[in-house]
Amino acid sequence: ETALDAAFFVRWMTAVAAAVDREADHLTELDSAIGDADHGSNLKRGFTAVRTALEKEPPATPGAVLVTAGKTLVSTVGGASGPLFGTLLRRTGKTLGDAERVGLGELRDGLRAGVDAVGQLGSSAPGDKTMLDALDPAVTALADGFAAAAEAAGAGSRATVPLQARKGRASYLGERSIGHEDPGAASSALLFAALAEVAR
Ligand code: ADP
Ligand code: MG
Ligand code: MG
Repeated sequence: ETALDAAFFVRWMTAVAAAVDREADHLTELDSAIGDADHGSNLKRGFTAVRTALEKEPPATPGAVLVTAGKTLVSTVGGASGPLFGTLLRRTGKTLGDAERVGLGELRDGLRAGVDAVGQLGSSAPGDKTMLDALDPAVTALADGFAAAAEAAGAGSRATVPLQARKGRASYLGERSIGHEDPGAASSALLFAALAEVAR
C-alpha cells in the first residue's frame, strides 16, 4: 500500500519545476502557434516561485504542499494557466486535508476534485482542446498507477492536435487552431510525467 508523505509532494513539485525549465521553449513554441507565446515563460516563472516557497518553509502535510504550490501559481502567473493550474493544486490539496500520509486512492480522489474545479473555473470540459484533455484521462488512469497516468496524459495531449479549440485564446482562431497540440495539455502531461518519475 503506497503512503505518500509531504516530502514526496515537495519532490513532485520540484520535479515539475525542473521539467518546466527543460521544456519552457517547447511550451512557448506550442503557444506561439495557437496563443500568445508565453506559456513556457508563464509556467517557468510560476514553478520557480513554487520551488522557492517550498524551500523556504517546507509544509508539514501533502495537502499543505499542494495548497502552497497552488496559491503561489495563482499569485505569480498572470495568464489563464496560473489560476487554472493553481486551482487544480489548491483544490487537490484541500481535498487531501491535513493527513500526514496519503494513499494512491486518496490522491486520485483529490486530483479528481481538482480537475472538476478546473472545469468549473474554465467552463470547460474534455474535448475543448485544453489542459483538461490531458488531466482528465490521467486522473482516470491513476487507478492503474503512476506510469499509466503519465502515459494517459501524454496520449491525451497528443490527441488535442486534430481538435478545434472551444476555450481560451486558441478558440479565437476557430478552425485554424486545428493541427496544433494544446500548450496547457502538454504542460499537464509534464505534471504527470514528473509524478511518475518521483514515484519510481
Ligand atoms: P494565456 O492563454 O492567458 O496566455 P497560458 O498561455 O499560460 O495563458 O495558458 C494557455 C493554456 O491554458 C491553454 O493551452 C489551455 O490548456 C489552458 N486554458 C485556457 N483557457 C482554458 C479554459 N477555459 N479551461 C481550461 N483550460 C484553459
Ligand atoms: Mg499564452
Ligand atoms: Mg498570455
